[in-house]
Amino acid sequence: MNRPDHDRNALIQRQPQAAAILTPRKEYPDIRGTVRFYSANDGTVVYAHVSGLPHSSDKCSQEFFGFHIHGGKSCTGNSDDPFSDAGKHFDKNNCPHPLHSGDLPPLLGNNGKAISVFLSNRFSVEDIIGKTIVIHSKPDDFTTQPGGNAGKKIACGVIRAVR
Ligand SMILES: [Zn+2]
Repeated sequence: MNRPDHDRNALIQRQPQAAAILTPRKEYPDIRGTVRFYSANDGTVVYAHVSGLPHSSDKCSQEFFGFHIHGGKSCTGNSDDPFSDAGKHFDKNNCPHPLHSGDLPPLLGNNGKAISVFLSNRFSVEDIIGKTIVIHSKPDDFTTQPGGNAGKKIACGVIRAVR
């Protein structure tokens, strides 16, 4: 049976082809989340479900978080940047930011919870298996090189094939 492409609910009820379980930075211990990747006719559908993001009761609090696939293969690092081994934004084509293959729409927090579903034709599921997905502390400004001035890496997950 052919499912219509616009039937998002049908899509996200399928088993994804790859997924990443997020690990929080020590200073952000409440962050939990899973990012699932589905092969679609037009590219890859990304479905992120995250909780425990930083938030405050201030009605004007900043709750956009930069979100990227990075080219490194490990969520390890050093005391300054515990996910430094996630490396730079994944990019197949030597493009500037925000035209990297791994540049994604920022997450929007809602009292710490974010759900985002979108399509990207910049990568296939095969392209990103073994790479990392990172949530940043600040919004992506979509201008500054090479990372959009998105601040610290506050959560990271290795993208693994789902079998
Ligand atoms: Zn980028």
